[in-house]
Amino acid sequence: MSHVFINGQWCQPEEAVVSVFDRGFLFADGVYEVVPFYTGYPLLFDDHYERLERSLAQVGIDNPYQREEWLSICQTLAESTPEANGIVYIQVTRGAEYPRNHLPEGELTPTVMATASPWVPPVETPDPVHVEPFEDIRWLRCDIKSISLLGNIMLKQEAKKRGAFEPLLHRNGRVTEGASCNYFMVKDGCLYTPPNDELILGGITREWILELAESAGIEVKETAFSLDELMQADECFLSSSTREVQPVGTIGSTTINNGSIGPITQQLAELFRNRRPHIVQE
Ligand code: PLP
Repeated sequence: MSHVFINGQWCQPEEAVVSVFDRGFLFADGVYEVVPFYTGYPLLFDDHYERLERSLAQVGIDNPYQREEWLSICQTLAESTPEANGIVYIQVTRGAEYPRNHLPEGELTPTVMATASPWVPPVETPDPVHVEPFEDIRWLRCDIKSISLLGNIMLKQEAKKRGAFEPLLHRNGRVTEGASCNYFMVKDGCLYTPPNDELILGGITREWILELAESAGIEVKETAFSLDELMQADECFLSSSTREVQPVGTIGSTTINNGSIGPITQQLAELFRNRRPHIVQE
């Protein structure tokens, strides 16, 4: 079975090619989306579709497909993958044009690529991880899921050098997010996460966790907080489609909740696993 969708065609990975004049290659002029699937079922597809539509609109690229077509691409990829659980990666660039110009001269046809890869969803809450704080060096439109991820990659490299699972980003001491995740803290029973503004990517997992927390009667505040406040938190965790709820045990040299999983983090991680589609374990 084929594994790559490219500009309306299905092909094998080695046959999937685009022009070197593609603006994704030359300028990182494009956006992407990642949709997890569990037992072949894409989770929160509509939310991912809406975020893709929004990212495309923000950068002025016409959405090449309707919702149903995107859903069919995702389902075909999920079904054609030998593993039951995985992620679908979608990328749309503005298209290719020769010669290279910052602003395209002609009418371009967007380049669309989608592929799936296996991923193993957690069956229990993972052990707490270590994160390292860094000044957020990225651009000021982090709300767009741009394929331009150089800042994110540089920050991840620095975090890895310090033995951290993920960087914890802040702007002048105000916590934003991770290089590929959102952050939460718990203080006095209340769940805090930075507001969904242009400084963070509005994570689909973040939104769902907020809904789960509210439905469980946990007080929720989407409000800015500082790195210092986070260091005083009772609990801290990060979230993304492929990490779900990931507890944080240490931030730099500060230990949170004695390095153990806090009760609200555990509750939310369990709620998440109970509400996601039933998984087939491989
Ligand atoms: N923030 C950034 C910068 C990301 O790259 C991601 C996911 O890749 C997230 C947050 C979490 O988003 P989601 O929960 O939709 O996976």
